Amino acid sequence: MSSWDVIIIGAGAAGLHCAAHAAQRGQSVLVLDHAKQAGKKILISGGGRCNFTNMYAGPENFLSSNPHFCKSALSRYTQWDFIGLVAEYGIAYHEKTLGQLFCDDSAKDIVRMLMSECDQHGAKVQLRTEVVSVNYDDNYRIETSRGDYSCNKLVVACGGLSMPKLGATPLGYQIAEQFGHSIVPVRAGLVPFTLQDDEKARFAELSGVAVPVSAEAHDGYFREAMLFTHRGVSGPAILQVSSYWQPGEAVTINLLPDLDAFEWLKTQQQQQPKTQLNTVLQQHFPKRVVAAFAEHHQWPLSNKLADTSNAQFQAIADNLNRWQLKPNGTEGYRTAEVTLGGVNVDEISSKTMESQKQPGLYFIGEVLDVTGWLGGFNFQWAWSSGYACGSEL
Ligand code: FAD
Repeated sequence: MSSWDVIIIGAGAAGLHCAAHAAQRGQSVLVLDHAKQAGKKILISGGGRCNFTNMYAGPENFLSSNPHFCKSALSRYTQWDFIGLVAEYGIAYHEKTLGQLFCDDSAKDIVRMLMSECDQHGAKVQLRTEVVSVNYDDNYRIETSRGDYSCNKLVVACGGLSMPKLGATPLGYQIAEQFGHSIVPVRAGLVPFTLQDDEKARFAELSGVAVPVSAEAHDGYFREAMLFTHRGVSGPAILQVSSYWQPGEAVTINLLPDLDAFEWLKTQQQQQPKTQLNTVLQQHFPKRVVAAFAEHHQWPLSNKLADTSNAQFQAIADNLNRWQLKPNGTEGYRTAEVTLGGVNVDEISSKTMESQKQPGLYFIGEVLDVTGWLGGFNFQWAWSSGYACGSEL
């Protein structure tokens, strides 16, 4: 049986970054992954260009049952550290919007960089190796599809449940529970909403149309685009707010976030009393959108503004500024970018990512109950938590 100082389960963002730093410290490091390729999620992320970090990343961009947990790791390995590494490798990148940094060319550049860091420092990455079970007796014994391995320190970096097609498994949670950890209930995050059949049918014809909105649920408030889909709604504003939404609740959508819709309609009434409501609404929305919303909320579209009552304006304004959208669910792990919840961070050292229940056992990346917003934050958590662990092993 081959023995190592450190075995890392998962050759994803967190595992590869951790491996390079641990190997740099002189540890013998083996990374195991059942996939045929390392960093599969990195490769498909950001439409193939990988939104690898965010210039404005800070603890406020993360959800966790303990919002303080991520602070130490994020401050010890910041977005600027990762940007420095990317620059060292001569990888060209650009800001797309809101501080989101993407490769100019391809996400492959990021995977090549991580693999080259592992290689340079002597960390071995072994693919096509499924981890089946883990046991502890003085050291860790890892049973895999390609034989058994042992190590003194075991790092669990096998991610969450999102996108099972890309190789996601619940192994990380199972190992955590096996060693006495509690799991904060998991659910899909950064995920499109589905709508009830009647609403779905009404908005289906808008599929592909995007409108700038603000979307709000609990503490989550995001001003970005909303996209209508065949199944419901998506787009950055919706993906972001989905992480804050609880099943059964409504999301408040403001379709005119820069305007008090009632005041605006009253002003229009004074300025152009003979104009139809339909015409005025088309100043802000495509015709198809106005028609779908009018049908949904029974707006008197053919009314002249002069003939429209304050109560009618108020009802329309409420629909526009405070539309209560009640999803009947989400598209689930099939399309979710992340998994909310995970290994309870109150049982993990925020400095080293080591288990407080089982010495020599570490958890990094998405398997932990730390989830970033859309926009490069989840990779930043993988880099920061991977470094925090790797630099202390
Ligand atoms: P992962 O990257 O998921 O790696 C886990 C690894 O463990 C995988 O390689 C898997 O094969 C392996 N594994 C699992 N089970 C086993 C087992 N039993 N045996 C062996 N190996 C196993 N975040 C951003 O910041 N920016 C983006 O642009 C972005 N785009 C995304 C696009 C999509 C479509 C998706 C799904 C996610 C995106 N994310 C993005 C989120 C980001 O990819 C994850 O948060 C991040 O990859 C988590 O890193 P990780 O190393 O913890 O886990």
